[in-house]
Amino acid sequence: MLDNLRAIAAARQALLNEDGVSPFGTVVEKVISTTEGILDGRRTILAGTNNYLGLTFDPVCIEAACTALRNEGTGTTGSRMANGTFAAHTALERELAAFFGRRDAMVFSTGYIANLGMLSALTGRDDVILIDADCHASIYDGCRLGTAEVIRFRHNNPEDLDIRLRRLGERTARTLIVVEGIYSMLGDRAPLAAIAALKRRYGAWLLVDEAHSFGVLGAHGRGLAEEAGVEDAVDFVVGTFSKSLGTIGGFSASDHPELDSLRYASRPYLFTASPSPSIVASARAALGLLQGRPELRKRLWENAHGLYERLRDLGFALGPEPSPIVAVMMATPEEGLACWRALLAQGVYVNLIVPPAAPNGGSLLRCSVGAAHTPEQIERIAGAFATLPRV
Ligand code: PMP
Repeated sequence: MLDNLRAIAAARQALLNEDGVSPFGTVVEKVISTTEGILDGRRTILAGTNNYLGLTFDPVCIEAACTALRNEGTGTTGSRMANGTFAAHTALERELAAFFGRRDAMVFSTGYIANLGMLSALTGRDDVILIDADCHASIYDGCRLGTAEVIRFRHNNPEDLDIRLRRLGERTARTLIVVEGIYSMLGDRAPLAAIAALKRRYGAWLLVDEAHSFGVLGAHGRGLAEEAGVEDAVDFVVGTFSKSLGTIGGFSASDHPELDSLRYASRPYLFTASPSPSIVASARAALGLLQGRPELRKRLWENAHGLYERLRDLGFALGPEPSPIVAVMMATPEEGLACWRALLAQGVYVNLIVPPAAPNGGSLLRCSVGAAHTPEQIERIAGAFATLPRV
C-alpha cells in the first residue's frame, strides 16, 4: 500500500533537487491572454498549450458561455442519462454530426472520457483492439475498462499492422484498429491512407482520435481523415473540445446506427455528470468559428512552420514533421529540466515530457503554437531556444 506513491515521490525529488518551479503542475499565477500568463512572478509566453485556434478568449465564445451561465445555471448536476441532457447538448450533437457529415454524434464530459466510453463499450470479449503503441493514455485506459483482447502495433508502422492483422485470420472482422490523427508528443501524423487500405482489405473497423487534428488538418478542419481523403474508411471519429475549441468535453461521431445504443451501454457516458451549459455553449460557438474563420487555421500553420523551421535551423533534433506540436528532443530528463528552467527564466513556458512519455530514456521540450501567437512571440520563443546548448 502506497509503495508506488513513495517511489513517485522519490523520483520527483531526484529530478527536482534544485530550488525552482516544478515543471509538473506549474501554476499560472495570472492569465493575461490566450498566449500569455504570469508564471513564477514573470510575464511568460505560453508555448505549451493546446489552444490551436486561440479561441479561449474569443468574445463570441465568452458571450455564449456567459448567456448560458445566466440562463441555465452553473451545472447540470446529473448524467446525460438522467437529468443532464439539455436541449443544447442535443443541438451540439446534431451540429457535430453535420460538421463531420455523419449520421450521429455523442457528447461526453471530456475527451478522456470519450475514449473510455467508446473503447470499453464498442467492443466485447470476442473482439480485438489493435492500437498504435504511441496512443494516448485515455485509449489504453479505455481498453482496460473493456473486455476485448488488446494488441499493440509499432507506432506509425503499417507493415507491422499488416502482419498482426494477417495473424488474426477471421477475427479481423471483429477487430477495431485505433490510431490518432496527430500524436500528442511528437506531433507526427498517422499514415492514415495506408492504415485505411489495410482496414478495408481485412474487413476490420477503424477509430481515429482526432484530438490534436480536429480544427487543425483538412480543408474544413475535420482532421487527418479529411486531409488524407479517407473519411469513408473511418467508422468512429473521436475528439475533444479541450484543444481547438478552447473549452472542455469530448465527442464521437459515426454513421453506424448502433452509436445511439452506446448511450445505454457506455459507463463513462452513463455515470458522470454532463458538461455544464456554459461549456456546451462555448463549444458550439467555437465549432461555428472553426467553420466560419478558416484564416485561424492558416495562421496556426504559419506559426507551426515558422517555429519548426527556426528550431530546425538552430540545430535542434525535432519531431519528424512540422506540426503545431514542435517537440525538441533532449538526451536526458536532467538536460530537459535544465533547459526547461532556462526557457522559463526567459519568459517562455513549454511542456517538459519525461519517460515513459518521452522516447528512449530522453526527454522532450514539447512546444505548441496556436493561431493567436504573433510572429514576434514565435521569434521570442525561438530566441530563447537559441540560448540553450544543442544536444
Ligand atoms: N486523446 C488524445 C490523443 C489526447 O492527447 C488527449 C489529451 N491530451 C485526450 C484524448 C484527452 O482529451 P481531454 O484532455 O479533452 O480529456
